[in-house]
Amino acid sequence: MELPIELSGAKSSTLMWAQEYDVDAKALQQLRNIAALPWVHGVRVMPDVHLGKGATVGSVIAMYQAVSPAAVGVDIGCGMEGVLTSLTAADLPDDLSRIRSRIEAAVPVGFRSHGDPVGVRRLGLDPRPWDRLWGGFTSLHDGVQDRERKAKQQMGSLGGGNHFIEVCLDDEDRVWLMLHSGSRNIGKELAERHMRIARELPHNADLPDRDLAVFLSGTPEMDAYRRDLTWAQEYAARNRAVMLALVMQAVRESFEVEVRFEQPISCHHNYVAEEHLDGLDLLVTRKGAIRAGLGDLGLIPGSMGTGSYVVRGLGSQRSFYSASHGAGRRMSRNEAKRRYTVDDLVAQTRGVESRKDAGVIDEIPAAYKDIDSVIAAQSDLVEVVAHLKQVICVKG
Ligand code: 5GP
Ligand code: MN
Ligand code: MN
Repeated sequence: MELPIELSGAKSSTLMWAQEYDVDAKALQQLRNIAALPWVHGVRVMPDVHLGKGATVGSVIAMYQAVSPAAVGVDIGCGMEGVLTSLTAADLPDDLSRIRSRIEAAVPVGFRSHGDPVGVRRLGLDPRPWDRLWGGFTSLHDGVQDRERKAKQQMGSLGGGNHFIEVCLDDEDRVWLMLHSGSRNIGKELAERHMRIARELPHNADLPDRDLAVFLSGTPEMDAYRRDLTWAQEYAARNRAVMLALVMQAVRESFEVEVRFEQPISCHHNYVAEEHLDGLDLLVTRKGAIRAGLGDLGLIPGSMGTGSYVVRGLGSQRSFYSASHGAGRRMSRNEAKRRYTVDDLVAQTRGVESRKDAGVIDEIPAAYKDIDSVIAAQSDLVEVVAHLKQVICVKG
């Protein structure tokens, strides 16, 4: 059947770039719950869709004068950053472990962070524009202790889970660098605090799922959320830019030949923007979706062992100018750990210089959907600029 399809039983316009039989029943129910919210103008569902907390990952929700913090997700501003280098496959050494170690030395991964704003200092950046960011902590409901210190220490660090840094080759053997990260723990603390506040608001009392609580325009709670949201989105974008610069520096130092870089590509995939759609000014939430306006460049990663894609938006108004953010999970982390072993992980990440221990089994490629099919399902939303295959993957 042709895509997109209209989700059956949805109370507001819900177009899906996936077949209902390919989507988990719980995720479909979650989408119907979202579509039933009185503030929703429309929902667009990307081919990487899967169950998320409160709201599905791989969905775009356009609301009128309302935002649900669960529809942004806990990692506000999570996204991708990548750059094409002047290196080619022939420049790479046979043993990639040294480059991997250099990258790991440049960017703290997992729960580690910099001891101070060393990420900024190491790059020799002008500290002044950063002062506004560190200081930008006015909130009506400030509940995060020591925000400024945390913000400084976490800037330029990757975080855990499926955040990653990769060195990839495209089909012409050109080397790309890319990374996936967001607003780190500070963004999570802010998101969780606002979700708690939203749940207690009286207008949210009768929702089908309390996790879908919304803030309404014109209220102090919305103003406070929007301030923190904007701050965290900027923090995430800068975090990725700092990390990419640190990785570029590490790569430059690893080669005798001079390494040049093109203009980096950056895209959020968990965020809110004010957008004009169908003649209305709406608040558009992309959770596990990227903006794909005409000409917009985006990065759609697959998994630690399969390919990823650099794409260019085709400006599809039908999709609210959106595309998928990745391949999307096929199964939960726990299910992946039950089903697969370290041997499976080794087999599925052959040729990739990466961690291959029990701690990353939940990230095994088979736990994700097939990225090529996901890209094929959205050929009316994005065109492929480059197909990438990683040779190094540093996991958070
Ligand atoms: P999320 O933002 O939902 O946490 O993950 C984004 C997407 O990144 C996932 O849906 C998955 O397709 C992809 N992904 C997860 N881990 C890796 C990895 O190590 N390398 C690459 N290239 N993609 C990954
Ligand atoms: Mn994230
Ligand atoms: Mn993400």
